[in-house]
Amino acid sequence: MRYISTRGEAPALGFEDVLLTGLATDGGLYVPESLPHFSLEEIRSWRGLPYAELAYKVMYPFVEDAIPADDFRAMLNETYSVFGHQAVAPLVQLDSNEWVMELFRGPTLAFKDFALQLLGRLLDYVLEKRKQHVVIMGATSGDTGSAAIEGCRRCEHVDIFILHPHQRVSEVQRRQMTTVQGDNIHNIAVKGNFDDCQRMVKESFGNQSFLGGKTQLAAVNSINWARIMAQIVYYFQASLALGGPDRSMAFSVPTGNFGDIFAGYLAKKMGLPVSQLVIATNRNDILHRFMSGNKYEQHQLEHTLSPSMDIMVSSNFERLLFDLHGRDGAAVKTLLENAAKGPVSIEDYRWKHARKLFDSDAVDDKTTCDTIREVYEQNEYLLDPHTAIGVRAARNCRRDSAVPMITLGTAHPAKFPDAITESGLSVKPQLPAHMADLFEREERYTVLENSVSEVQSFIGKHWKNA
Ligand SMILES: *Cc1c(COP(=O)(O)O)cnc(C)c1O
Repeated sequence: MRYISTRGEAPALGFEDVLLTGLATDGGLYVPESLPHFSLEEIRSWRGLPYAELAYKVMYPFVEDAIPADDFRAMLNETYSVFGHQAVAPLVQLDSNEWVMELFRGPTLAFKDFALQLLGRLLDYVLEKRKQHVVIMGATSGDTGSAAIEGCRRCEHVDIFILHPHQRVSEVQRRQMTTVQGDNIHNIAVKGNFDDCQRMVKESFGNQSFLGGKTQLAAVNSINWARIMAQIVYYFQASLALGGPDRSMAFSVPTGNFGDIFAGYLAKKMGLPVSQLVIATNRNDILHRFMSGNKYEQHQLEHTLSPSMDIMVSSNFERLLFDLHGRDGAAVKTLLENAAKGPVSIEDYRWKHARKLFDSDAVDDKTTCDTIREVYEQNEYLLDPHTAIGVRAARNCRRDSAVPMITLGTAHPAKFPDAITESGLSVKPQLPAHMADLFEREERYTVLENSVSEVQSFIGKHWKNA
């Protein structure tokens, strides 16, 4: 399998290089040159497989040039054995034909574990083979940092430095990062805000001389293809559990960067019968505004009760735009260069095609809280604010009540207790047993000034072979 850039100029790469690269050199994102396609008969034959084995069937075509089958199987068995539920992605029924797929049974209680647990293992495998080392540098406002740290804690060839804004992440989120033990794990609290952290990471990728030429930076944000790939699997899993592929499914996906829902779009293209995909956003609704009015335009960032979806631009949307433009990289390049300067639209027939593929909705904080309360009163089931947005959008956009509607449950409610309180419920969501002592664990992190040179010199001194 070869991977090509959405902006059409960077060289095509194999899986190993795509894994180790962030953005393509032309500023684009890597996508597979062609997708595998599975027949209904083949998909049907996967019914009842354990999650890791299904993951093997769905993903192997993407990695087969780089990893022998047995090694990939072993890696997947290890990856998904750390999840706190036998089914890995269990389904919970809300109404006669309405479901939540719980994607928060991994070590850090958010769906990002599905991809980042695998990504850490993939990186270490490829680096071992190549006798190379990388430094992961990332900025986080919450979920990505902890999932990336958990995913890399056992990696021998990876040092990970995660920057978070000092005193501006929740205590649960900070502790999920700073209590993980490991010589290769480094938490930096920057005396600045999230944008400062992000700017430092960007600048460092641009000029890596502080590493002395002895190692290189790698990215773990959702522009990394391997993350998207790992998220395709659970669409197949949910469908097979509810009678697919002999009936079609609808999915509602709480989204910010368009990563998770893009994986659903790919599942459909790979042969899974999917009749509806709902884009569910919070007030940071650039995707919903585009879907409703064919205008892609950055607005001011709003802070909401669903912080993991607080974005201004949606980076993975570029991967869809590439398909909508008949995979014409030059057209995507022009469009996105213009989008950086002001609002853009696409040709009407392309936009109409996008509207056939996706429905969308934007849900504000009040409606998020109303939904948490409503579902708790109906089912005694607690939703986290991100998942609540998915359920609300599912109910608003549903086209056919005979088709099972599955909302992706992206986080455990105990990660976001404020939203539960704000919805007027007196229940307190409990952390699962494996995290019950989170507040007693020892924390390790270093506070640094809001200065890129200070951060870079810290990294330069503290990675393994420095
Ligand atoms: C990251 C995240 C999202 C958004 O996922 P994208 O792939 O960026 O669309 C939604 N919910 C939670 C809880 C998250 O952590």
